Amino acid sequence: MIEIDRLEKSFGTNRVLDGISLTVRQGQVVCVIGPSGSGKSTLLRCVNGLESYEGGEVRVSGRRVDRRSPEIRAIRREVTMVFQRFNLFAHRTALENVTEGPIYAAGESRASAEAHARELLAQVGLTGKEAAYPSQLSGGQQQRVAIARALAMRPKAVLFDEPTSALDPELVGEVLTVMRDLARQGMTMAVVTHEMGFAREVADHVVFMDRGRVVEEGPPAELLTAPREPRTQDFLRRVL
Ligand code: ATP
Ligand code: MG
Repeated sequence: MIEIDRLEKSFGTNRVLDGISLTVRQGQVVCVIGPSGSGKSTLLRCVNGLESYEGGEVRVSGRRVDRRSPEIRAIRREVTMVFQRFNLFAHRTALENVTEGPIYAAGESRASAEAHARELLAQVGLTGKEAAYPSQLSGGQQQRVAIARALAMRPKAVLFDEPTSALDPELVGEVLTVMRDLARQGMTMAVVTHEMGFAREVADHVVFMDRGRVVEEGPPAELLTAPREPRTQDFLRRVL
């Protein structure tokens, strides 16, 4: 579904992705962990064409991701993203935030987009909050609206960039619960996260990145409990 092949990306002289290869198969949940500045966000942004890259290739359903190609809009609908900060439209209700993409980017009818949005808001536990504005919602509720919005495009995969890092600790669980349910329903997901409990329980595959490279990867039971590489061991000692 998502194939990243020897991806290279620099900002000026700073090589942020240094030959990353990674595959996310349909229905798989891949968690990406690693220290700050290791290139995790940049990696996700390359996957849905928010960043360009110089070397290697990213493919989604076999098509090359290229920011300048006319296909990029279709690819962004196929692979949507949830950010650390919820990025909701402040002057639109929860329902309007969810219907915006389908109506204006995908040309869906308002009636059908609203019916779907109500279902999605129910799925993330927000029935009754359709008319609320972001400022009237808690951080966890706002992030769940953002997840509903990402799902509204009927994506084949969803990318999550530290979706719980900006939340107060007591609100983290409700967002992880929604993500766990989504994984159980078979959604293909790539998740950058510091929530090792979530990675251990939900991920099929965990990737540890450092300085723009994949240092080590494997099933969570191996990588998180018996890492082989000293850099992975160090990192886990610090976060666990
Ligand atoms: P964090 O855990 O703090 O979110 P990260 O692993 O997501 O870190 P990135 O945000 O991908 O790391 O950043 C990797 C490197 O690229 C950093 O050195 C950062 O300063 C640099 N970088 C990221 N975006 C830009 C940009 N738009 N312009 C210049 N440098 C950038
Ligand atoms: Mg980041």
